[in-house]
Amino acid sequence: MKDISLGLMNGKRGMIFGVANDRSLAWHIAERLHAEGAELAFTHLPPPKMERRVRLLAEPLGATCIVPCDVTDDTQIRRAFQEANRQIGPLDFIVHAIAYANRAALHNPFHTTSRADFAQAMDISVYSLVALCQHGLRYMNEGGSVLTLTYLGAVKMLPNYNVMGVCKAALESAVRYLAAELGRDKNIRVNALSAGPVQTLSAAGVEDFDRILRHYPQKAPLHRNIRPDEIGTSGLYLLSDLSSGVTGEIHYVDCGYSTVGW
Ligand code: NAP
Repeated sequence: MKDISLGLMNGKRGMIFGVANDRSLAWHIAERLHAEGAELAFTHLPPPKMERRVRLLAEPLGATCIVPCDVTDDTQIRRAFQEANRQIGPLDFIVHAIAYANRAALHNPFHTTSRADFAQAMDISVYSLVALCQHGLRYMNEGGSVLTLTYLGAVKMLPNYNVMGVCKAALESAVRYLAAELGRDKNIRVNALSAGPVQTLSAAGVEDFDRILRHYPQKAPLHRNIRPDEIGTSGLYLLSDLSSGVTGEIHYVDCGYSTVGW
């Protein structure tokens, strides 16, 4: 699939938040969008080390707009959009692939989560989507698309997901409220892709993640884990006109795991 291009994103421009390395889900989406003709801007956390990591990946895709953005800081978000607008022009899509909870909050029993850890996880993993829509809206074209990434832990209790499950539940709710408002105001769609487990930096923070990876193929109707390129193709669907009638949706890409009840 990687080598086939239908030019579905020719003339479209977008901004990708959440590439840490070539395993990041955002990276697989970016590669697919690029292959389909999209022009991309990327963000990275401010430290130079993070910039170098993202630059090494993004520049070969022809990306020239690579800007710092810690999503806990509204000024940085505003500047990132201004800079993208200056360098590549109005955006047709935004990819939000950002989540964070500190190690203690992920590992300790959920009821022991501290107020500060809870607030930080919600701020980075949920409010950031609201903030990106808030600041990005004026730089987006009518008919655009916003995509975030979620996980089954939003709707079911899953071992070791703890505070992040609660964050994902709030994120999925935010998708519905944002979809209603952005659809009404600017015909912009907002959707979430609920991915099956993929080994990434963030996933490494979830205790026993290897066990989850071994468990899915036993139960999922397709009897395997998802391939990262399937995140890319489904991301392309949700960000392109192929899904022009779809908004406020949580789209599962998990080899069917979420559909079985045993
Ligand atoms: P990842 O490669 O580690 O991506 C997470 C990204 O969030 C990183 O680029 C990280 O930047 C960024 N980030 C964290 N705090 C930030 C902040 N304050 N400001 C800006 N960026 C920040 O892991 P991933 O698995 O691809 O995660 C992407 C999304 O997919 C997350 O929402 C995750 O919950 C979701 N998801 C993942 C899976 C899975 O199995 N991997 C399944 C379902 C959903 P740095 O690395 O530079 O800190």
